[in-house]
Parts: sequence; C-alpha cells; structure tokens
Amino acid sequence: MDCLFCKIIEGAIPSKKVFENERIVAFHDIAPAAPVHILIIPKKHIATMNDVTEEDDALMAELFTVARQIAKEQGIADTGYRLVNNCNDEGGQVVYHLHIHLLGGHKMKALAD
Ligand code: AMP
Ligand code: ZN
Repeated sequence: MDCLFCKIIEGAIPSKKVFENERIVAFHDIAPAAPVHILIIPKKHIATMNDVTEEDDALMAELFTVARQIAKEQGIADTGYRLVNNCNDEGGQVVYHLHIHLLGGHKMKALAD
C-alpha cells in the first residue's frame, strides 16, 4: 500500500520516534506547527476518522493514553496542549492514515479558519 505513514511504521522512511509499542507509533512532525508537534498513529492502517469502527474502541482509547503520556514527557501537560485530527479534504487531511497531532509549547491561538 502506498501510504507514507505505513512506510514510517515499517522503517522504510525515517522518523524521529518518541514512542512505539505493538499497536501505536509516535514521532515528530517533519514541519512542526508549534514548539512541540508530535503525530500519534495506530500501526493499523485506518485511512480517516470516518473509517474507525467499534472494533477500534480500545485502540482509539490507547491513542489518547499515549498522547497524555507524551504530553507529560514533553513537559507540556500542565502548561497545556492541543490534540487535533484532520478528517478528509475540508478538514485539512493530507496523509490518509489516521493520526492525532499533539501540539504545544506556546499559547495557542483560536481554532484556525
Ligand atoms: P494532516 O494534514 O492532518 O494529514 O497532517 C499530516 C502531517 O504529516 C503534516 O503536519 C506534515 O507536516 C506531516 N508529515 C508529512 N510527511 C512527514 C514525514 N515524512 N515525517 C513526519 N511528518 C510528516
Ligand atoms: Zn497507512
């Protein structure tokens, strides 16, 4: 499958990983939009938020658990952070492998656009 994030998961494309277990990988965004900008993704290829099913309930919960953990490790848990999912074209999705953006390290402006 021609998916950028699947290739990152396989290690075919390099990334700066901050977390990995059997189900989830997290790595630094290549074009950070904030001092801390990390992408948290399931290893399972799910194209968009619309493609998540009840089968993925535990996986989705774990994505948020990992996000909280990384926010703590990055030192932004108390100052604050933003978790974002872009779904489909009008949501601004560019890579069609489900991911959560963890953004923090400065004061966020109002939600864009
Ligand atoms: P989205 O617009 O929600 O689909 O976000 C895709 C994100 O992937 C963007 O923030 C990109 O900067 C990021 N990105 C694209 N290619 C890479 C890469 N090779 N390594 C890390 N992040 C990437
Ligand atoms: Zn994929």
